[in-house]
Amino acid sequence: MSEPLTILGRGDSWKSCPFVGEIWACGTVLVTDGMKDKRYDKVFAMDIMHPAHTGLASSYEVAKERNIPFISIYDYATEKYPLEDIFNDFHTQYLMNTVSYMLALAIHQGRNPLSLYGVDQEDGMYSDGKPVVAFWLGVATGRGIKYDIANESMPGFAPCYIQSDVESIGEEWKVREEETIMVYGFGCREHGIFRIMQPVWEVHKANCPVCGIKAKQVYELSLP
Ligand SMILES: [Zn+2]
Repeated sequence: MSEPLTILGRGDSWKSCPFVGEIWACGTVLVTDGMKDKRYDKVFAMDIMHPAHTGLASSYEVAKERNIPFISIYDYATEKYPLEDIFNDFHTQYLMNTVSYMLALAIHQGRNPLSLYGVDQEDGMYSDGKPVVAFWLGVATGRGIKYDIANESMPGFAPCYIQSDVESIGEEWKVREEETIMVYGFGCREHGIFRIMQPVWEVHKANCPVCGIKAKQVYELSLP
């Protein structure tokens, strides 16, 4: 285990991020309202620095002012992304969105555990990134890395329990009542992640058991 590392995207679930440990964030966080005043250890950008991409250029200027390493595969980087090391380690070029680059580097460096916030791959161009994010989370699983993901889009892979109330009628079994219960994870900004069991068809809500404040559902792809 190393110092906890958070990988932060700009999707809505970034708001449940407690900003503890080391924080790596995507491109334009330094010019995004609500996010720009937070603490970041590294900022990653994998887009070409184009004059039309004003957010990226401004974020880059802020990073330089604040002495935050700006990681990229392009020459504007203040810290170059070690693409060759990544290829040599994983033998794949399946890198697409900035989050995939961050995940690959974190796994390459053996960072464990990881937390992902704001990586909401649901809408528009972000849904294109969902398979590549899932791929790198699979690589993390393969290397025994534990991670939590707070987002609105990735499926939970928590164990599933089926409680059935069954009666036999002659030769056949009839299901009288069936309820599928699963473990659901929730995150409190102050007290971290907790898990409870709820029927799958319920709207999943929970309050933090420590402070009682409404917690946000998190989708976990690995359990501790
Ligand atoms: Zn709490």
